[in-house]
Amino acid sequence: MHNTKPAETSFASLNLDERLLRALDAKGYTAPSPIQAQCIPLLLEGRDILATAQTGTGKTAAFALPILQLLLRHPRRMPRNTVRALILTPTRELAAQIHKSFLDYGANTHAHCAVIYGGVGFPAQIRTLQRGVDVLVATPGRLEDLRERGCIDLGEVAVFVLDEADRMLDMGFQPAVRRIAAELPEVRQSLLFSATMPANVRTLAEKLLNDDPARVSVAQESATADNIAQEFWPVEGAHKKDLLLHILRETQPEGLVMVFTRMKHVAGRLAQFLEKNGVPAEAIHGNKSQNARERALAAFRSGEVRVLAATDVASRGIDIKDVALVINYDMPAEAEAYVHRIGRTARAGASGKAIAFVSRDDHSLARSVERLIKQTIPVHDEHPFAPKKHASAAAETTAAEGAHGRSHGSHGSSRGHSSAGGGGGNGGRVGHAFRQRAAANRSRLHR
Ligand code: AMP
Repeated sequence: MHNTKPAETSFASLNLDERLLRALDAKGYTAPSPIQAQCIPLLLEGRDILATAQTGTGKTAAFALPILQLLLRHPRRMPRNTVRALILTPTRELAAQIHKSFLDYGANTHAHCAVIYGGVGFPAQIRTLQRGVDVLVATPGRLEDLRERGCIDLGEVAVFVLDEADRMLDMGFQPAVRRIAAELPEVRQSLLFSATMPANVRTLAEKLLNDDPARVSVAQESATADNIAQEFWPVEGAHKKDLLLHILRETQPEGLVMVFTRMKHVAGRLAQFLEKNGVPAEAIHGNKSQNARERALAAFRSGEVRVLAATDVASRGIDIKDVALVINYDMPAEAEAYVHRIGRTARAGASGKAIAFVSRDDHSLARSVERLIKQTIPVHDEHPFAPKKHASAAAETTAAEGAHGRSHGSHGSSRGHSSAGGGGGNGGRVGHAFRQRAAANRSRLHR
């Protein structure tokens, strides 16, 4: 096991090639992140790795640098249609991002790095593969398409990286991953990265990695970044749009804002609604063409539009600096997705904020999120669209405050903290507890 964080390390002490060190210097990286400090020496020794790594930890460089070093130390002209290092990742956006990282880190090398994903034409990708490729970043669907057309031979792969393995399985890619792995040579180095390590990922890891993989973990499974201030804002569906506009106009969050919806059409309509109301916004979801998605991301990245409405297609791995606020306009269907969505802010050590709109139907989900992250999230209902302002809930909350606030005095906030682990399941009771927590939190939030 290699779970301990090493003492302060420098990139130079990791025995990285001087050409890579120069590229890191140009990127402004001063020291390796914990995942890099742990993975790089193990990978340079030739070990297989099973890594649990949160998004934003620097995991791309953790595998890209040793791969580039291998290419520098043992140069080899790759035969037509063959690949030396294969990185499989679930989405096009991630593939493009990882490819870009390889280009940056390998700027002073002659490595031929390529990327293939669906939604764009085949000819350019086929021509690229014909030259033989040192590093191929691919999504599973397009890789299989090209393999079936005889354009890729995986028999020369020396290093195989499975990125975001949990997401890969969630997206139904398990059969594709297994078919692809069956084409790889037996003797190879394999790495598996996953934000969480549920049983199905561990089973896959047993199939893909050798008998003695090094285990690396840089964050607790399913933990959220410590430097994200999270809040639950109660609001009913009909008022969500107005609340969003209120937040964007009144609180003027500094930096970029990502707004997550469950449905593709909701993301699209929200962006239009915001535009109409004077807030430049873009949308990104699976119904958009690859070009349109890239244009939207580029406009957001550059700050041309401050707000990006997105479905979960953008919840993982997309690395955009300066996302100061993530708004869960709709709570995600699964608690795990919440962790990935809010991970879009507070990247690379910055701090960030995450607000989730919680309607009456979302209370149990809100509790599962709290159970998953083992934290109680403060409830903020001091906004003009809070349900209590419109319903009898106000009376209930006041009654709860009267009963508990006076008799328990300073215990108010500890009551709030205890509710996350409680059972429930009954919408009414959960709703009642939720409102009580809002009351308990109010004073804390508005110092
Ligand atoms: P990743 O988790 O690989 O997507 O990386 C997250 C972000 O951290 C990216 O913006 C990287 O450019 C940045 N990054 C990665 N490694 C370092 C490092 N050692 N120092 C500073 N920034 C880094």
